[in-house]
Amino acid sequence: MNTQTKPVRVGNIEIGGPAFVVLAGPCSIESLEQFTQTAEAVKASGAVMLRGGMFKLRTNPDSFQGMGKSAFEIVRAVKQRTGMQFISEITDPRQLGDFLEIVDMFQVGSRNMHNYSLLKELGSVQTPILLKRGFSGLISEWLYSAEYVVKHGNPNVVLCERGIRTFETSTRNTFDLNAVAYVKQNSHFPVIADPSHATGATPLVTPMALASAAAGADGVIVEVHPNPSVALSDGFQALTPDMFSSLMNRLERVLTALDRPLAKLL
Ligand code: PEP
Ligand code: MN
Repeated sequence: MNTQTKPVRVGNIEIGGPAFVVLAGPCSIESLEQFTQTAEAVKASGAVMLRGGMFKLRTNPDSFQGMGKSAFEIVRAVKQRTGMQFISEITDPRQLGDFLEIVDMFQVGSRNMHNYSLLKELGSVQTPILLKRGFSGLISEWLYSAEYVVKHGNPNVVLCERGIRTFETSTRNTFDLNAVAYVKQNSHFPVIADPSHATGATPLVTPMALASAAAGADGVIVEVHPNPSVALSDGFQALTPDMFSSLMNRLERVLTALDRPLAKLL
């Protein structure tokens, strides 16, 4: 089967249409300065959407848990300054009301792909959802999770492959590019890839972002930090603004070879 992708709109950005989208930003919002600096850098290099975690689901309870609600003011200021659309992870259905006021797209994290009460709640709004694949999720389970959101009333779902857990331990996860090609051919959902979490290693992010484009992904989401060595989460996989700029240059050349334009901010 070769199913036609139904694009999902986030403001004036189309995900799953002819143009390839790049979403970028820090793993976590840490301060006004850090988020502003990152946002301006990724915008200047061609990202169309900004990411930034506020509520973090960390494996270790002693790790930084995100700024929580105190990030909201920072997000408002940076959105106003850059005019960029913003995506952030919702970790609990009780956050819905607050999130609706500041996010343009909800991220459902890998650890919540099977959280059906959260998925049902996200069916009650029309704001687009980026549904990450659970790190132990079958492709079939991932598609069922997407259907949960759709069946409860929100058709605006984009899938995100972010790597799965396998016997291999040299990389943080195993990037399943098969899944990208598979869901493009067997579902109507747009699919983007997250080479940051899929590899967990800065030097691997650029090659796997390029590979994602070649495999037919509709976009990538990439973690960028102005100073990865002091990042409060996922610094080991963050690109610096310079590395991100070089990724964008190389990506544009790969996309040209694929006859696919890079989405630009209007
Ligand atoms: C993230 O995007 O920072 C994140 C926690 O991702 P995942 O849910 O894929 O681990
Ligand atoms: Mn992260």
